[in-house]
Amino acid sequence: MLALAGYPLGLEFVFLDPAADACAAPLGDHLRAEYTDPQALMEFCRRIDIATYEFENVPDETARFVSGLKPLHPSPRALAVGQDRMTEKQLFDELGIPVPNYEPVGSRDDLDRVICNLGYPAMLKTRQLGYDGKGQAVLRTAEDLGPAWEKLGRQPLLLESFVAFEREISCIGVRGANQQLSFYPVTENVHRNGILRTSIPRLNDPMQALAESHAGRLMEHLDYVGVLAFEFFVAGGKLYGNEIAPRVHNSGHWTIDGAHCSQFENHLRAIAGWPLGSTALRGPCAMVNFIGDLPDLGKLVQFPGLHLHLYGKSPKPGRKIGHATLTAATDADLAVALAQLGKLIPG
Ligand code: AMP
Repeated sequence: MLALAGYPLGLEFVFLDPAADACAAPLGDHLRAEYTDPQALMEFCRRIDIATYEFENVPDETARFVSGLKPLHPSPRALAVGQDRMTEKQLFDELGIPVPNYEPVGSRDDLDRVICNLGYPAMLKTRQLGYDGKGQAVLRTAEDLGPAWEKLGRQPLLLESFVAFEREISCIGVRGANQQLSFYPVTENVHRNGILRTSIPRLNDPMQALAESHAGRLMEHLDYVGVLAFEFFVAGGKLYGNEIAPRVHNSGHWTIDGAHCSQFENHLRAIAGWPLGSTALRGPCAMVNFIGDLPDLGKLVQFPGLHLHLYGKSPKPGRKIGHATLTAATDADLAVALAQLGKLIPG
Protein backbone atom coordinates (compact mmCIF):
# COMPACT_ATOMS: atom_id res chain seq x y z
CA MET A 1 0.00 0.00 0.00
CA LEU A 2 3.02 2.30 0.50
CA ALA A 3 4.14 1.52 -3.05
CA LEU A 4 0.64 2.02 -4.44
CA ALA A 5 0.65 5.48 -2.85
CA GLY A 6 4.21 6.21 -3.98
CA TYR A 7 4.14 5.51 -7.72
CA PRO A 8 1.88 8.48 -8.54
CA LEU A 9 4.42 10.64 -6.68
CA GLY A 10 7.20 9.40 -8.97
CA LEU A 11 8.85 7.16 -6.36
CA GLU A 12 10.26 3.68 -7.03
CA PHE A 13 10.47 0.73 -4.66
CA VAL A 14 12.73 -2.18 -3.72
CA PHE A 15 11.29 -4.67 -1.21
CA LEU A 16 13.26 -6.87 1.14
CA ASP A 17 11.09 -9.77 2.26
CA PRO A 18 12.11 -13.38 3.01
CA ALA A 19 8.76 -14.75 1.77
CA ALA A 20 8.64 -16.23 -1.76
CA ASP A 21 5.05 -15.00 -2.12
CA ALA A 22 5.67 -11.52 -0.67
CA CYS A 23 2.52 -9.59 -1.52
CA ALA A 24 4.56 -6.49 -2.46
CA ALA A 25 6.67 -8.46 -4.98
CA PRO A 26 4.56 -7.62 -8.06
CA LEU A 27 4.93 -3.90 -7.28
CA GLY A 28 8.71 -3.49 -7.53
CA ASP A 29 12.08 -5.23 -7.20
CA HIS A 30 11.73 -8.03 -4.67
CA LEU A 31 14.97 -8.91 -2.91
CA ARG A 32 14.19 -12.24 -1.35
CA ALA A 33 16.49 -12.74 1.64
CA GLU A 34 16.49 -13.07 5.41
CA TYR A 35 16.44 -9.77 7.29
CA THR A 36 19.74 -10.79 8.88
CA ASP A 37 21.64 -11.53 5.62
CA PRO A 38 24.40 -8.86 5.50
CA GLN A 39 25.12 -9.34 1.77
CA ALA A 40 21.44 -8.86 0.94
CA LEU A 41 21.20 -5.82 3.21
CA MET A 42 24.20 -4.24 1.48
CA GLU A 43 22.68 -4.93 -1.92
CA PHE A 44 19.34 -3.51 -0.72
CA CYS A 45 21.03 -0.33 0.51
CA ARG A 46 23.01 0.00 -2.73
CA ARG A 47 19.74 0.17 -4.68
CA ILE A 48 17.83 2.68 -2.54
CA ASP A 49 17.97 6.28 -1.34
CA ILE A 50 15.77 5.99 1.76
CA ALA A 51 14.61 2.97 3.77
CA THR A 52 11.46 2.39 5.79
CA TYR A 53 9.50 -0.61 7.11
CA GLU A 54 5.84 -1.48 7.52
CA PHE A 55 6.35 -4.48 9.81
CA GLU A 56 7.75 -3.96 13.30
CA ASN A 57 9.29 -7.40 13.68
CA VAL A 58 12.24 -6.42 11.50
CA PRO A 59 15.19 -7.30 13.81
CA ASP A 60 16.74 -4.43 15.69
CA GLU A 61 20.24 -5.27 14.33
CA THR A 62 18.88 -5.12 10.78
CA ALA A 63 17.49 -1.64 11.37
CA ARG A 64 20.80 -0.47 12.85
CA PHE A 65 22.79 -1.98 9.98
CA VAL A 66 20.59 -0.34 7.33
CA SER A 67 20.58 3.01 9.13
CA GLY A 68 24.40 2.95 9.06
CA LEU A 69 24.27 2.91 5.26
CA LYS A 70 21.15 4.87 4.28
CA PRO A 71 18.62 7.12 6.06
CA LEU A 72 16.08 4.86 7.81
CA HIS A 73 12.78 6.26 9.11
CA PRO A 74 11.28 5.74 11.64
CA SER A 75 14.58 5.45 13.56
CA PRO A 76 15.92 2.18 14.99
CA ARG A 77 15.16 3.60 18.46
CA ALA A 78 11.46 4.04 17.59
CA LEU A 79 11.39 0.51 16.19
CA ALA A 80 13.01 -0.89 19.36
CA VAL A 81 10.41 0.85 21.55
CA GLY A 82 7.57 -0.61 19.49
CA GLN A 83 9.07 -4.10 19.65
CA ASP A 84 8.98 -4.58 23.39
CA ARG A 85 5.75 -4.08 25.32
CA MET A 86 7.70 -3.51 28.53
CA THR A 87 10.00 -0.77 27.15
CA GLU A 88 6.95 0.75 25.48
CA LYS A 89 4.93 0.94 28.71
CA GLN A 90 7.92 2.29 30.65
CA LEU A 91 8.29 5.07 28.09
CA PHE A 92 4.54 5.90 28.29
CA ASP A 93 4.96 6.09 32.09
CA GLU A 94 7.99 8.33 31.79
CA LEU A 95 6.07 10.69 29.48
CA GLY A 96 3.08 10.86 31.84
CA ILE A 97 0.79 8.81 29.56
CA PRO A 98 -1.48 6.63 31.77
CA VAL A 99 -1.17 2.84 31.28
CA PRO A 100 -2.89 -0.19 32.82
CA ASN A 101 -0.95 -1.51 35.87
CA TYR A 102 1.76 -3.84 34.60
CA GLU A 103 4.71 -5.92 35.79
CA PRO A 104 7.27 -8.11 34.07
CA VAL A 105 6.95 -11.90 34.48
CA GLY A 106 10.07 -14.04 34.08
CA SER A 107 9.06 -17.30 35.80
CA ARG A 108 6.04 -19.26 36.99
CA ASP A 109 6.73 -18.02 40.54
CA ASP A 110 6.72 -14.46 39.25
CA LEU A 111 3.34 -15.08 37.65
CA ASP A 112 1.85 -16.31 40.95
CA ARG A 113 3.27 -13.30 42.77
CA VAL A 114 2.33 -10.66 40.16
CA ILE A 115 -1.26 -11.88 39.74
CA CYS A 116 -1.68 -11.42 43.53
CA ASN A 117 -0.57 -7.80 43.12
CA LEU A 118 -2.66 -6.99 40.03
CA GLY A 119 -5.71 -9.23 40.64
CA TYR A 120 -8.12 -10.82 38.14
CA PRO A 121 -8.96 -10.32 35.33
CA ALA A 122 -5.54 -9.65 33.79
CA MET A 123 -3.81 -10.02 30.41
CA LEU A 124 -0.64 -12.07 30.11
CA LYS A 125 1.35 -10.98 27.04
CA THR A 126 4.65 -11.83 25.43
CA ARG A 127 6.97 -8.83 25.53
CA GLN A 128 7.93 -9.35 21.88
CA LEU A 129 6.53 -10.60 18.57
CA GLY A 130 2.86 -10.40 19.55
CA TYR A 131 0.28 -9.19 17.04
CA ASP A 132 -3.34 -9.82 16.08
CA GLY A 133 -4.11 -11.47 19.43
CA LYS A 134 -1.13 -13.83 19.15
CA GLY A 135 1.08 -14.00 22.22
CA GLN A 136 -1.56 -13.15 24.79
CA ALA A 137 -3.98 -14.84 27.19
CA VAL A 138 -6.75 -13.51 29.44
CA LEU A 139 -6.53 -14.65 33.06
CA ARG A 140 -9.95 -14.70 34.70
CA THR A 141 -9.41 -17.21 37.54
CA ALA A 142 -6.52 -19.16 39.11
CA GLU A 143 -7.40 -22.06 36.77
CA ASP A 144 -6.23 -20.00 33.78
CA LEU A 145 -2.68 -19.61 35.13
CA GLY A 146 -1.39 -23.10 34.21
CA PRO A 147 -2.65 -23.17 30.59
CA ALA A 148 -1.54 -19.56 29.98
CA TRP A 149 1.93 -20.35 31.32
CA GLU A 150 2.06 -23.49 29.11
CA LYS A 151 1.12 -21.43 26.06
CA LEU A 152 3.38 -18.41 26.61
CA GLY A 153 5.87 -19.19 29.38
CA ARG A 154 8.97 -19.88 27.28
CA GLN A 155 9.73 -16.20 26.70
CA PRO A 156 9.82 -12.93 28.65
CA LEU A 157 6.27 -11.89 29.56
CA LEU A 158 4.32 -8.97 30.93
CA LEU A 159 1.19 -9.11 33.04
CA GLU A 160 -1.19 -6.16 32.89
CA SER A 161 -4.52 -5.32 34.47
CA PHE A 162 -7.54 -5.88 32.27
CA VAL A 163 -9.09 -2.53 31.38
CA ALA A 164 -12.91 -2.55 31.29
CA PHE A 165 -12.82 -0.03 28.46
CA GLU A 166 -15.83 1.72 26.93
CA ARG A 167 -14.08 2.12 23.58
CA GLU A 168 -10.78 1.45 21.86
CA ILE A 169 -9.37 4.24 19.73
CA SER A 170 -6.20 4.85 17.80
CA CYS A 171 -4.57 8.11 16.98
CA ILE A 172 -2.60 8.15 13.74
CA GLY A 173 -0.03 10.91 13.63
CA VAL A 174 2.55 11.90 11.08
CA ARG A 175 5.70 13.91 11.74
CA GLY A 176 7.78 15.34 8.93
CA ALA A 177 11.55 15.63 8.73
CA ASN A 178 11.01 19.39 9.33
CA GLN A 179 9.15 18.50 12.59
CA GLN A 180 5.74 19.40 11.13
CA LEU A 181 3.18 17.34 13.08
CA SER A 182 -0.31 16.40 11.96
CA PHE A 183 -3.04 13.97 13.10
CA TYR A 184 -5.95 12.19 11.47
CA PRO A 185 -9.31 12.19 13.28
CA VAL A 186 -9.13 9.46 15.94
CA THR A 187 -10.38 6.09 14.82
CA GLU A 188 -12.75 3.96 16.88
CA ASN A 189 -11.73 0.31 16.63
CA VAL A 190 -13.53 -2.96 17.29
CA HIS A 191 -11.41 -6.08 17.90
CA ARG A 192 -12.53 -9.67 18.23
CA ASN A 193 -10.10 -12.30 19.60
CA GLY A 194 -7.44 -9.59 19.58
CA ILE A 195 -7.85 -8.98 15.82
CA LEU A 196 -9.04 -5.66 14.42
CA ARG A 197 -12.44 -5.98 12.69
CA THR A 198 -13.63 -2.45 12.02
CA SER A 199 -12.27 1.09 12.25
CA ILE A 200 -14.40 4.22 12.05
CA PRO A 201 -12.89 7.72 12.08
CA ARG A 202 -14.74 10.03 14.49
CA LEU A 203 -14.87 13.70 13.69
CA ASN A 204 -14.84 15.92 16.83
CA ASP A 205 -14.28 12.96 19.14
CA PRO A 206 -14.08 14.15 22.79
CA MET A 207 -10.75 12.28 23.11
CA GLN A 208 -9.10 13.88 20.03
CA ALA A 209 -7.11 16.59 21.85
CA LEU A 210 -5.88 14.28 24.63
CA ALA A 211 -4.89 11.53 22.16
CA GLU A 212 -2.97 14.07 20.05
CA SER A 213 -1.21 15.43 23.10
CA HIS A 214 -0.07 11.92 24.21
CA ALA A 215 0.94 10.79 20.70
CA GLY A 216 2.60 14.13 19.93
CA ARG A 217 4.67 14.02 23.12
CA LEU A 218 5.91 10.55 22.24
CA MET A 219 6.76 11.52 18.65
CA GLU A 220 8.64 14.63 19.80
CA HIS A 221 10.50 12.58 22.40
CA LEU A 222 11.63 10.05 19.76
CA ASP A 223 12.34 12.80 17.19
CA TYR A 224 10.07 10.64 15.05
CA VAL A 225 9.82 10.86 11.27
CA GLY A 226 6.91 9.10 9.52
CA VAL A 227 3.49 7.77 10.50
CA LEU A 228 2.89 6.39 13.99
CA ALA A 229 -0.23 4.72 15.36
CA PHE A 230 -0.99 4.97 19.07
CA GLU A 231 -3.69 2.61 20.39
CA PHE A 232 -5.61 3.65 23.51
CA PHE A 233 -8.35 2.29 25.76
CA VAL A 234 -11.02 4.85 26.70
CA ALA A 235 -12.34 4.34 30.24
CA GLY A 236 -13.99 6.81 32.62
CA GLY A 237 -13.04 9.84 30.52
CA LYS A 238 -9.35 8.82 30.54
CA LEU A 239 -7.04 7.36 27.92
CA TYR A 240 -4.79 4.41 28.77
CA GLY A 241 -1.91 3.75 26.38
CA ASN A 242 -2.02 0.19 25.05
CA GLU A 243 0.61 0.10 22.34
CA ILE A 244 2.25 1.97 19.51
CA ALA A 245 3.05 0.83 16.00
CA PRO A 246 6.01 2.74 14.52
CA ARG A 247 4.55 2.44 11.04
CA VAL A 248 1.45 2.78 8.91
CA HIS A 249 -1.33 0.88 10.66
CA ASN A 250 -4.40 -1.18 9.85
CA SER A 251 -6.62 1.23 11.80
CA GLY A 252 -5.51 3.94 9.34
CA HIS A 253 -6.36 2.02 6.17
CA TRP A 254 -9.58 4.05 5.85
CA THR A 255 -7.41 7.09 5.02
CA ILE A 256 -6.83 5.77 1.46
CA ASP A 257 -10.46 6.41 0.52
CA GLY A 258 -11.58 8.65 3.40
CA ALA A 259 -8.88 11.30 3.92
CA HIS A 260 -7.48 13.94 1.59
CA CYS A 261 -3.99 12.43 1.89
CA SER A 262 -3.66 8.81 3.01
CA GLN A 263 -1.41 7.60 5.84
CA PHE A 264 0.68 5.87 3.14
CA GLU A 265 1.25 9.00 1.10
CA ASN A 266 1.91 11.02 4.24
CA HIS A 267 4.45 8.46 5.48
CA LEU A 268 6.30 8.72 2.17
CA ARG A 269 6.10 12.53 2.22
CA ALA A 270 7.50 12.55 5.77
CA ILE A 271 10.45 10.21 5.13
CA ALA A 272 11.26 11.94 1.82
CA GLY A 273 11.44 15.29 3.62
CA TRP A 274 8.46 16.74 1.72
CA PRO A 275 5.62 18.86 3.15
CA LEU A 276 2.82 16.76 4.64
CA GLY A 277 -0.57 16.36 2.96
CA SER A 278 -3.94 17.17 4.54
CA THR A 279 -5.12 14.69 7.19
CA ALA A 280 -8.71 16.01 6.97
CA LEU A 281 -11.61 13.59 6.57
CA ARG A 282 -13.42 13.71 3.22
CA GLY A 283 -16.70 12.47 4.71
CA PRO A 284 -18.22 9.66 6.77
CA CYS A 285 -16.41 6.33 6.21
CA ALA A 286 -15.55 3.02 7.85
CA MET A 287 -13.02 0.26 7.27
CA VAL A 288 -13.92 -3.41 7.55
CA ASN A 289 -11.25 -6.14 7.52
CA PHE A 290 -11.58 -9.44 5.68
CA ILE A 291 -10.16 -12.05 8.00
CA GLY A 292 -9.51 -15.69 7.10
CA ASP A 293 -11.83 -15.75 4.12
CA LEU A 294 -13.14 -13.35 1.49
CA PRO A 295 -16.82 -12.42 1.15
CA ASP A 296 -18.58 -12.98 -2.19
CA LEU A 297 -16.64 -10.59 -4.45
CA GLY A 298 -19.49 -10.43 -6.97
CA LYS A 299 -21.67 -8.87 -4.27
CA LEU A 300 -18.93 -6.57 -2.98
CA VAL A 301 -18.25 -4.98 -6.36
CA GLN A 302 -21.94 -4.07 -6.64
CA PHE A 303 -22.05 -2.53 -3.15
CA PRO A 304 -22.58 1.28 -3.37
CA GLY A 305 -19.77 3.35 -1.83
CA LEU A 306 -17.54 0.32 -1.22
CA HIS A 307 -13.84 0.54 -2.04
CA LEU A 308 -12.19 -2.85 -2.25
CA HIS A 309 -8.57 -3.60 -1.27
CA LEU A 310 -7.35 -7.19 -1.70
CA TYR A 311 -3.84 -8.09 -0.63
CA GLY A 312 -3.15 -11.12 -2.86
CA LYS A 313 -2.63 -13.27 0.25
CA SER A 314 -3.90 -16.84 0.49
CA PRO A 315 -6.86 -17.34 2.87
CA LYS A 316 -5.90 -18.73 6.30
CA PRO A 317 -7.83 -18.63 9.61
CA GLY A 318 -7.11 -15.39 11.47
CA ARG A 319 -5.15 -13.85 8.56
CA LYS A 320 -6.00 -10.39 7.24
CA ILE A 321 -6.37 -10.85 3.49
CA GLY A 322 -8.06 -7.61 2.48
CA HIS A 323 -10.30 -4.80 3.59
CA ALA A 324 -13.05 -2.56 2.31
CA THR A 325 -13.70 1.09 3.03
CA LEU A 326 -17.30 2.23 2.94
CA THR A 327 -17.95 5.88 2.19
CA ALA A 328 -21.37 7.51 2.64
CA ALA A 329 -23.02 10.93 2.49
CA THR A 330 -24.08 10.94 6.16
CA ASP A 331 -23.33 9.06 9.39
CA ALA A 332 -26.84 7.57 9.28
CA ASP A 333 -26.29 6.26 5.71
CA LEU A 334 -22.96 4.83 6.80
CA ALA A 335 -24.54 2.93 9.71
CA VAL A 336 -27.14 1.38 7.36
CA ALA A 337 -24.47 0.41 4.80
CA LEU A 338 -22.23 -1.10 7.51
CA ALA A 339 -25.06 -3.27 8.79
CA GLN A 340 -25.74 -4.49 5.23
CA LEU A 341 -22.06 -5.18 4.58
CA GLY A 342 -21.83 -7.08 7.88
CA LYS A 343 -24.32 -9.63 6.48
CA LEU A 344 -21.97 -10.42 3.58
CA ILE A 345 -18.89 -11.03 5.70
CA PRO A 346 -18.20 -14.61 6.86
CA GLY A 347 -18.26 -14.95 10.66
P1 AMP B 1 -2.72 -5.81 21.74
O1 AMP B 1 -2.03 -6.83 20.91
O2 AMP B 1 -2.01 -5.48 23.01
O3 AMP B 1 -3.11 -4.58 20.97
O4 AMP B 1 -4.11 -6.47 22.16
C1 AMP B 1 -5.12 -6.79 21.23
C2 AMP B 1 -6.47 -6.49 21.80
O5 AMP B 1 -6.66 -7.25 23.02
C3 AMP B 1 -6.66 -5.05 22.23
O6 AMP B 1 -6.97 -4.23 21.13
C4 AMP B 1 -7.81 -5.20 23.21
O7 AMP B 1 -9.03 -5.42 22.54
C5 AMP B 1 -7.43 -6.47 23.95
N1 AMP B 1 -6.57 -6.11 25.12
C6 AMP B 1 -5.22 -6.06 25.15
N2 AMP B 1 -4.78 -5.65 26.36
C7 AMP B 1 -5.87 -5.45 27.14
C8 AMP B 1 -6.08 -5.01 28.48
N3 AMP B 1 -5.07 -4.74 29.32
N4 AMP B 1 -7.36 -4.89 28.91
C9 AMP B 1 -8.41 -5.18 28.09
N5 AMP B 1 -8.28 -5.61 26.82
C10 AMP B 1 -7.04 -5.74 26.33
